[in-house]
Amino acid sequence: MNDTLQGWLSDQISSLKDQNLYKPLAVMESPSGARITVNGKENVINLASNNYLGLANHPRLKQAVVEAVEKWGAGAGAVRPIIGTMRIHMDLEERLAQFKHVEATLVFQSGFTANAGVIPTITDAEDVILTDELNHASIIDGVRLSKAQRKIYKHCDMTSLEEGLKASEGARKRLIITDGVFSMDGDVAPLDKIVDLAKRYNAAVMVDDAHGSGVMGEGRGTAYHFGVHQEIDIQLGTLSKAVGVMGGYIAGSRALIDWLTQRARPFLFSTAQPPSAVAAIIAAIELMDNDLSFTERLWANTRYWKEGLAKIGFDTGVSQTPITPVMIGDEGKALEMQRALMNEGVLALAIVYPTVGLGKARIRTMPSAMHTRSDLDDALAAFRNAGKSCELL
Ligand SMILES: *Cc1c(COP(=O)(O)O)cnc(C)c1O
Repeated sequence: MNDTLQGWLSDQISSLKDQNLYKPLAVMESPSGARITVNGKENVINLASNNYLGLANHPRLKQAVVEAVEKWGAGAGAVRPIIGTMRIHMDLEERLAQFKHVEATLVFQSGFTANAGVIPTITDAEDVILTDELNHASIIDGVRLSKAQRKIYKHCDMTSLEEGLKASEGARKRLIITDGVFSMDGDVAPLDKIVDLAKRYNAAVMVDDAHGSGVMGEGRGTAYHFGVHQEIDIQLGTLSKAVGVMGGYIAGSRALIDWLTQRARPFLFSTAQPPSAVAAIIAAIELMDNDLSFTERLWANTRYWKEGLAKIGFDTGVSQTPITPVMIGDEGKALEMQRALMNEGVLALAIVYPTVGLGKARIRTMPSAMHTRSDLDDALAAFRNAGKSCELL
């Protein structure tokens, strides 16, 4: 081994530890559910996962995996354009297009690779990308891979976006990119207004709906919620969060999908998803399409949770979605609160600088369709006790 590299690695890690920024992995010893075993502690109420609808451990999905392994084997064996495309991949893409009410979809290995695949593939050096300052890391990386010029607009600020559009009139194409639901504050992009501006200035719109997929618009996403799904050029969805499995997709026009199959690098050069994952995703879409009780329970629990926290006296910020930040402010206090909650049997993570701004530390909570009222009542009691012991209430 190379001493220079190994020495550098040890220094970097020590420096993280000195600044209290080193985060050891929490290890689950149970399936993802409302209550989990984590780091050896049993029966911990899980308010940290993105498994919004409880599909990650749903019996129908597990059954679909077992049957697909028997029928198709464990792996796809190649990248999609060589010989990794199985009938089941095509079935999923058709089913997703129906579910999203769009012409066509293309599935990637993850939401992250979908962003890395689509953004540089549809923009080039004569183009301008207008991107919200709070967009997800995978959008930021996708934009970095593009040769287009980048303009960052203020978070959900239509005046700032319009200034960017005015200042980029000379571009050949313009692409506005926004999260549908923002993952740290749980607020929703004003897609109706963004679409209006885009029309006025002849720009295309891309929505990364990772946290909206399965959650907003009866599960069909934030664009569907606003009724603008026909007017948005590119929707990105994830299959890893509410859908409960692993993967990402792009939904849009047939021409967009055709182009991506020829040029999107993660699609061309990284192996297709295993057929078992694809089968589980199809089972999840069937459940979401035929049974609204999943999203109804998610939203009923969300309302109950936010009201409960407000009654205790916590500030839950500007969230309009299940993502519920409990605003703390001070970084040290937020970390202390996370530990106090774990002592009370609740897993909810502190989010601190640099993920959010300095002095904007919070505990991020995610109620789901899986939680029962007694899970949520127990969690509220834990928040009250922990809040008192940390002198936040
Ligand atoms: C989680 C997330 C992704 C990545 O999705 P994966 O399927 O987990 O790779 C992309 N964009 C946003 C906004 C996300 O929140």
